[in-house]
Parts: sequence; structure tokens; C-alpha cells
Amino acid sequence: MQSLRDALEQSERDGVAIGHFNVSDWVLLKAVLATGQELKVPVVVGASEGEREFVGVRQIAAVVRSLREECDCPIFLNADHTHSLPKAVEAAKAGFDSIVFDLSALPFEQNVRQTKDAVEAIKAINPAILVEGEIGDIGTGSEIHEKAPDLSRGLTSPAEAKQFVESTGVDILAPAVGNMHGMLKSMVQGQTRKRLDIQRIAEIKNAAHVPLTPHGGSGTDDEDLRKAIAAGINIIHINTELRVAWRRGLEEGLGKQPHEVVPYKILPFAVESVEKVARSRLQLFNADK
Ligand SMILES: [Zn+2]
Repeated sequence: MQSLRDALEQSERDGVAIGHFNVSDWVLLKAVLATGQELKVPVVVGASEGEREFVGVRQIAAVVRSLREECDCPIFLNADHTHSLPKAVEAAKAGFDSIVFDLSALPFEQNVRQTKDAVEAIKAINPAILVEGEIGDIGTGSEIHEKAPDLSRGLTSPAEAKQFVESTGVDILAPAVGNMHGMLKSMVQGQTRKRLDIQRIAEIKNAAHVPLTPHGGSGTDDEDLRKAIAAGINIIHINTELRVAWRRGLEEGLGKQPHEVVPYKILPFAVESVEKVARSRLQLFNADK
């Protein structure tokens, strides 16, 4: 069975990126799995602390493990945005493939010190788990925002990235390169797109030499994503776009069948709606496969 590290190395060689999709229910998980299988590409399923609390830490790990065994396909599980060591340890013990240890809200030195401790603690539980650290400011909340936060001062510098990776031993780095959590209303309506700082990505890659992960990929310009992959991005996080699709699909299922109460007759509309978004993103990340 391929490991997440193997899949990352393969994607780097192929000049493609792996899609990371957050899930908090069976509809999203089903859609992401089906799309990955259809396109025959690896996918990472992410669950943040809030999403894990809803589905259960050991339960989501058990479900993904069972799916992976049955389909014999590269579907991996990431503990997204983990803000404390106990939560990281809990995910590590449950069998997650990777953990995003996110103390990016703290001052840089504290972030370095505590991330280093977390890397050691997680690797002591299972050295195969990949640990991702995060620096810079990309805002919070994979939801629809009224106003764009000012993130210009929180952009990651190549020197910071190098120092952070070398001092902490993280396997993967999540930088701030124009990406942002959540979407603006105008992005949901397709009027505006997020733009990435491609030059900065290339410089960070050159300095840090680790896989890079931009969080908050929803609503990003397609061409920027292509260039970002060429510049050294390896995993792209998409959450809000799936959540929007989930809601629209659910509304369609309910609207078309106003008297239906059978969940498995309503929810396939949501699955299909999420699949459509996941498919188009995975095609883009995988060289228009
Ligand atoms: Zn994120």
C-alpha cells in the first residue's frame, strides 16, 4: 500500500498536486472517494478539530481505513488545523496519515518551539506520520466572509520558511502566499478570484525544500493554481467550495422532492454536486487529467 509520503514524492516527480478535501459527513467523504477513484489519483481527506469533533476522531480514521482497504486506492487522512498537542496525539493514536499542527497565530519563536515539540511527540507515536507546520496569516474559517481580511503583512518570507522547517523538522509547510481561508461572497458568485504570489512560492520552495501546501484554495484563479504547482506546491486544500456545493446539492434534492423523507434518496443530489467540484479541482491539480 502506497504511503502519503510516496504519493507526495510521485506527485512532485509528475509535476502535479494532490487534492485535499475536508469532510464532516458521509456525503462529502463518499464524493471525494468516488472522484479520486474515477480519475485514479490520490486524494487526502481532511478533518479539522471541529470536523473531527462532529464525526469522531477514531470513527473517521476507521472509516477511511476501511475504504482504503476495500478499494485498494490511495486515500489518505489528515488531521487538519490541530491547535494543541493533546489533539495531535489523539489523531496520531487514531491512525491519521498526517497532522497539521497549526500555531500560526502565535509569535514566530513560540510557534517554532511548540511545533518542534509536537513533531517529536507525533513521531514517537508513529514515525511514518507526516507533520505539517504553518506560518503566516491566511485568516480563519472555511466559510463565506463578508469582508476580505488584510493579510498583506502576514505573507511568509523564504528566510522564515527555511528557518521554520530547519528548526522544527516538519515534513510539510503551509505558507501564506496570497491564499486565504474561506471565500468572499463575490468569489462564490464567480465575480472575483484569489490570486497567488507565484514568485514567493518558488522562492519559499527553493529555501525550504519541503512539500508546500496552500490552505484556503477555494475560489483561487485556475491559472494561478497551475503556476503554483509548477513553482512547487504539492497539496492544495479545498474546503469552502465543497461546502457550498454540499448545500446547493442538498437544497436541490429537497426542492425536487418536497415530500421525500428518505435520506438516501435526497442525499445523492448533494453527493453529485460535491463530486462535480472535486472532479474539476482534481483535474486541474493533475494536469487536466
Ligand atoms: Zn486550512
